Amino acid sequence: MISIQGKGVSTGVAIGPLYYYHRAENTIRRFITENVEEEWDRFKAAQAKAIEQLGELAEKARAEAGDEAALLFETHQMMAEDLDYEEGIESLIKEEKQNAEAAVSDIAAQFADMFAQMEDAYMQARSADVKDVSSRIINILTGVVQGGIDSDVPVILAADDLAPSETVQLDKSKILGFVTEGGSGSSHTAILARTMGIPAIIGVAGQMKPEYEGREVVIDGSTGNIVVDPDEQTRLYMLTKLEEQKKRQKLLEQLKGKENVTKDGQKVRVFCNIGNPEDVPAVLNNDGGGIGLFRSEFLYLNCDDYPSEEYQFEAYKKVLSDMGGKEVVIRTLDIGADKQIDYFQLPKEENPALGNRALRICLNRPEIFKTQLRALFRASAYGKLCIMFPMVTSVWEVKEARKMCELVKKELDAEGKPYSDDVQIGIMIETPAAAIMSDRLAKLVDFFSCGTNDLTQYTLACDRQNNDLGRFFNPHHPAVLRLLKMVCDNAHKNGIWVGICGELGADLDLTETFLSIGIDELSVSPRSVLPLRQKIRDTYVSAVRQDVLNQLLGDDVPLE
Ligand code: PEP
Ligand code: MG
Repeated sequence: MISIQGKGVSTGVAIGPLYYYHRAENTIRRFITENVEEEWDRFKAAQAKAIEQLGELAEKARAEAGDEAALLFETHQMMAEDLDYEEGIESLIKEEKQNAEAAVSDIAAQFADMFAQMEDAYMQARSADVKDVSSRIINILTGVVQGGIDSDVPVILAADDLAPSETVQLDKSKILGFVTEGGSGSSHTAILARTMGIPAIIGVAGQMKPEYEGREVVIDGSTGNIVVDPDEQTRLYMLTKLEEQKKRQKLLEQLKGKENVTKDGQKVRVFCNIGNPEDVPAVLNNDGGGIGLFRSEFLYLNCDDYPSEEYQFEAYKKVLSDMGGKEVVIRTLDIGADKQIDYFQLPKEENPALGNRALRICLNRPEIFKTQLRALFRASAYGKLCIMFPMVTSVWEVKEARKMCELVKKELDAEGKPYSDDVQIGIMIETPAAAIMSDRLAKLVDFFSCGTNDLTQYTLACDRQNNDLGRFFNPHHPAVLRLLKMVCDNAHKNGIWVGICGELGADLDLTETFLSIGIDELSVSPRSVLPLRQKIRDTYVSAVRQDVLNQLLGDDVPLE
C-alpha cells in the first residue's frame, strides 16, 4: 500500500483503477499505396466504427440532455456516410493511391472550406462538424483514442496537468476522479471537476510512478489523500466514507424545493456555474435557482474553428429553454490566460493573465464579439437572459461593450429577428480597478457579479495557477473581503443587485460574511447548492453581522 498526499480541490471519494492520460498525437502519416483495396477497406471499417460510436453518443446525449442534444451526433452520423464525402475519399484512395487517413484528412479540409465559404450561417457551422467527424475517423484509423481514455471501465485519471480544453473533451462517464501533478484549486480544471461533481486532487508532482498504472487506487478529494493498492482496512474505510457521502446527499435532498432563507428571514439567491449546455440537468437536479455564470468560452474551446452565430445561438437557446424561464447569466467570451485557443492565433505573451484576454479581445476584435452578441440576443427570446462582460477595468470598456449591444439590436430589428427587450446587462468585478470604480460602473449596468478567483489573483498579486504560492494565495484575505463589501455597498446605493460567481461563493466559512455584507446572489457548482442552502438556513445573520463587519472594517481587530 502506497500513500500519497496532494491537495484536494473537489470533494468526494472514489475507488478504481489508475489510468494515465495519453495525449492524442494526431500527426497523419502520408504514403502512396499499391494496395488500394486494402486502404479502402480500412476506411470503410473506420467509417462503420465511427457511425457506431456516434450512435452510442447520440443515445447517451438523449438520456442525459434530450432529443436536441442527440441531434448533433445523428447529424454527424449522416455526414460520415454522406455520398459525396465518401466518393471524394474513394477517388483519392483508388485513383490517387493515397492512404486512408491522408485521403480523409484532405477531403475533410475541402468540405470544411466549402462549408465555411457558404453564405448561410447554418451551413457555415457544418464546417466544424465535418472536421469533427473526420478526426473521429482518422483517430480510429490511427489508433488514437478520442478523449484519451482507452478503458472499458471507469478510471481515476492521472495527468501531469490538464488544459481546460482537454478536460472539457473527456468522456465524463469514464472518470471516477482526477489526480494531477500540477494545477491549483482555482484553475479551470479544478473548477470543471467541481462542476462535474468528480473528486479531484492536485499537486502530487513526482509522486505518481508509471508502474502504478492499472492498479487499484482510492482518492479522497476532501483530504487530498491518494492510496495505491489499498489494504483491506483502507478500502473498507473509504467505502464507509462513500456510503456516508451518499447518506449526506440523501439528507440534503430533503432541502430541495425549500427557500434559501436565514433563520431571521434574509433571502439570498443560490444559482449555478456551468460550462456547457449539458450541465443544465445537474443545475435542475440540484435545485439551482438559475444560472449565475455560464462560461461561454467552453463552447469555443470545444470547436476547431470560430463557432458560428448559428452554432452559438442553438447552444444559448438550449440553455435558456431548458432552464424554463429561470434567470441565466451568460458571460461573453473569456479566453486568454490559461484558456488558450489555437485558432485565435493570439501572440505569445510574457504575462498572459495580465495580457490580451476576455473583454479586451472582444473589443479589439469586434467581429468576434458581434457574432456572439447576435447569438445571445437572438437566444434571449427563449428565456430570461442576462449578459455579463468579464475582466472589466474601465468605464469606457463597458460603454463600448454596451454600444455593441445597441448596434446588434438595431441589426436584428432591421432583419426582423426577435429578441427580448428585457435582457439585463452586467459586468464581472474581478479586478481591483473595477471594484474601486464600482460606484461609477454601477450606473452603467444592471448587475455586478464578483469573480473572486481573479479578484484574489489580481488583488494579492498571486498567480491563481501556481500551486506553490500556497498560503500567499488567500481568498479570505481582508483586502479581498473589503473590496467585496465596497462593491456590495456601491451596487446597493445605485439600486442594482450583486452576486459572487467565483469559487469563494461556495466557501461555507464565508457564508455569514456574504450574508452580512448583503450579497444578493451566490453562484456555485451545482453540487454545492444544497450544502449552501443548509448553511444559509442554519444562519441567524443579525446575530453575527456586527461582529463580521467589525472583523472586516474595525481598526481594533488584527487584520492578519
Ligand atoms: C473568477 O475569476 O472568479 C471567475 C468566476 O471567472 P473565471 O474563474 O472563469 O476566471
Ligand atoms: Mg475570472
